[in-house]
Amino acid sequence: MSQSFKKVHAITGMKDILPDGSAHWEHLEETVRQWLAAYGYRNMRTPVLEQTRLFTRGIGEVTDIVEKEMYSFTDALNGEQLTMRPEFTAGIVRATIEHNLLYERPQRVYALGPVFRHEKPQRGRYRQFHQIDVEALGMAGPDIDAEMIIMLARLWKTLGLADIRLELNSLGQADERRAHREALVRHLEQHIDVLDEEARRRMHTNPLRVLDTKNPAMQEMANSAPRLFDFLGEASRAHFDGVCKRLDDAGIGYSLNPRLVRGLDYYNSTVFEWVTDRLGAQGTVCGGGRYDGLIELLGGKPAPAVGFAIGMERLLDLCEQSGAFQAAAECQIYLVHQSDEAQRAAAVLAEKLRDGGFKVIVHPGSASFKSQFKRADASGAQVAVILGEDELRNRQASIKWLRRTDDAQAQQETIPMDSLVEELKQKV
Ligand code: ATP
Ligand code: MG
Repeated sequence: MSQSFKKVHAITGMKDILPDGSAHWEHLEETVRQWLAAYGYRNMRTPVLEQTRLFTRGIGEVTDIVEKEMYSFTDALNGEQLTMRPEFTAGIVRATIEHNLLYERPQRVYALGPVFRHEKPQRGRYRQFHQIDVEALGMAGPDIDAEMIIMLARLWKTLGLADIRLELNSLGQADERRAHREALVRHLEQHIDVLDEEARRRMHTNPLRVLDTKNPAMQEMANSAPRLFDFLGEASRAHFDGVCKRLDDAGIGYSLNPRLVRGLDYYNSTVFEWVTDRLGAQGTVCGGGRYDGLIELLGGKPAPAVGFAIGMERLLDLCEQSGAFQAAAECQIYLVHQSDEAQRAAAVLAEKLRDGGFKVIVHPGSASFKSQFKRADASGAQVAVILGEDELRNRQASIKWLRRTDDAQAQQETIPMDSLVEELKQKV
């Protein structure tokens, strides 16, 4: 007996996805894969664990993720410093460099899977969550930025989601950011009295991030801060215009948000977020932008890149709210039987039905017809196939429709065993 064993619970902020919920996940993943294939994106998979320094370098030392959200530890067996990926981009870029993926041509890639951040769990914010991560590597033009945004608009449409709006900004290039940064630090110094502790700590190391604050007392200061957008040179403006024109061509609305800076250091040029009011405080469904310097920063040959990540939990929350998902059935056909012999016949019949392409459950064990029908109904099956003593004797099966609204629902039909699969193929 294990009576002294204290029950184990899942780790805070890490959720089990049970079969009913997982059906929605699979539906969404399938939709997403088809959507990505339509734009020529191919799947790639990188390890969940990476060396910690990949993220400190790639994401940036003075960011929320690296400062306080990473699951980092020392491997007790060999002393390596490791981190559970808090996002996909750094790992994908590492793999791109390691395997020389850009040697021949640019690459469109995507990854789906869990990422890990040690945050305060709440609706839309978990410690293990899932991202759909999409990256276009080796492509520099505004056409690609625009295509990514246009393809996202298509996904929302496919999923039947309304009320997601697009916010856009440009972070320019390094020299433009440097000039803006000097002006910004001066502004922050002038308003030092309203800055909270975190802002004071970051004002010299990552002043742009100070503007990303949610602290109400700092909003006025942030609103009146010098705008990076005003520091952009001609080339940066032309790139941004190029994106906007293509969004206009596609009929996609957007608003310019000069305070949109994104939480990671590697972004430059175009940045964007898709935001909704339907998810409470955690309203950002998708965020992305250009990161033309990251491949070089991580030791690769310089190459431009742009990408985005969608939070799957938030997207699913939206889909469920909009009623896009129906409860998925466990099977199409549920086999009900009485007697040991009938159960064996049912198992043989079930294999034939599966040969015919059906999803089939045979009632496990034995039970009264009544309780078997209850289970059949709960399974979501469209039809129950009944094998009783009479049916066996006559080499027949009876079928009973479980979900029809017409007269057929009330009737039980009897069909010869030999033609059952064919008949069901016509009818189900
Ligand atoms: P936030 O401002 O909400 O913290 P972020 O800027 O940290 O978001 P990104 O790093 O851009 O988020 O990640 C991309 C997407 O992943 C977000 O837009 C969001 O949909 C989702 N996401 C981020 N953090 C979480 C989390 N802890 N739990 C669930 N989803 C998340
Ligand atoms: Mg965050």
